[in-house]
Amino acid sequence: MRWRDLFGKKGKREGEGPPLRRRETGAVARKADEASPSARQAKDIPEGLVEKCPSCGAILYRKELEANLKVCPRCGYHFPLSAPERIAITFDGGHIFEYDRDLVSEDPLAFPGYREKLAEAQERTGLMEAVVTGEGTIEGFPVVAAVMDGRFIMGSMGSVVGEKVARAAEMARAKRYPFVLFSASGGARMQEGILSLMQMAKTAAAVRRLADAGVLFVSVFTHPTTGGVLASFAGLGDVLLAEPGALIGFTGRRIIEQTIREKLPPDFQTAEFLFAHGQLDGIVPRKEMRPTLAKLLRLHAAGRRVGGGR
Ligand SMILES: [Zn+2]
Repeated sequence: MRWRDLFGKKGKREGEGPPLRRRETGAVARKADEASPSARQAKDIPEGLVEKCPSCGAILYRKELEANLKVCPRCGYHFPLSAPERIAITFDGGHIFEYDRDLVSEDPLAFPGYREKLAEAQERTGLMEAVVTGEGTIEGFPVVAAVMDGRFIMGSMGSVVGEKVARAAEMARAKRYPFVLFSASGGARMQEGILSLMQMAKTAAAVRRLADAGVLFVSVFTHPTTGGVLASFAGLGDVLLAEPGALIGFTGRRIIEQTIREKLPPDFQTAEFLFAHGQLDGIVPRKEMRPTLAKLLRLHAAGRRVGGGR
């Protein structure tokens, strides 16, 4: 099975996973107790075999964690997934037929260190950019997919991410396949300045055309979905889902608190907070995501047969 192949890979060390921003934001995290018995116990276990849950501090065997789709069996914390990991557990056969793999960012502003940063991210992740797009099936239903990867410059949106998402939406429209997006992003990519911001308009226009054509768009927020990605295509799905505990917001808590001079609730900008305030259609645990998407696709396909669609 592809899932096992992916996680069976050697050489993944502590700190190589996607950036965990929860502690910085303080929205979800409880600081793990460094001196807990399980932490002490970890010292006796060879490095690489175990991983510490950033939420409850439990020391978890990596194999067990991976068998549990990288969800902490103790507290339900969802570890971030890379795009290949997400594809492996979501789509039939664990893969999609990729579009536009060779689109690579330029350095339009000659931003200091940007080329090196891109090269480093490409080398480390094996991806060319922060989103993987393509087509595949979920329980036999064909979809066009866009899956973001938070390890790649924090999943930020530069020109190529915007272009790939817009092209994927156009392809979904042309083929009349539902569009399924998994977002994970720190927002616009500052190294591309205004060109990054322009991607918001381009992608929003592309998914609007999708809506006009009557093609379903399911947007899934994963931790974290923020900034210009949330404020453009990710926020425009017909159905908005999120993983438990995901941070979802336009701008950071500190900025908002300074601006409005008020203390924000502790769960502000979590999936649970958004759901309670009617801004999400559902919070779906990772294990239920694939069946939930399949159910939506089935209902949608049945509706089209009965109603004739548009
Ligand atoms: Zn935990």
